[in-house]
Amino acid sequence: MAYVIDKDLCIGCGTCEAECPVGAISVDEDGKYQINPDECIDCGACAGVCPVDAPKS
Ligand code: SF4
Ligand code: SF4
Repeated sequence: MAYVIDKDLCIGCGTCEAECPVGAISVDEDGKYQINPDECIDCGACAGVCPVDAPKS
């Protein structure tokens, strides 16, 4: 399993990218952030720091 960012909620702050221990999060062309499911280790750090609860497990 991997976390998935709800793009309708993401405000593009980048906090989750800075917190991810494995570098699984990157910014998309639309300024929203996305998680690479092949790299995500399901730690939940992104969900813990997101101000709008966009990363979902
Ligand atoms: S759950 Fe952890 S490993 Fe997966 S994207 Fe979020 S911070 Fe990175
Ligand atoms: S912390 Fe939340 S709002 Fe900020 S870039 Fe990540 S998913 Fe988007």
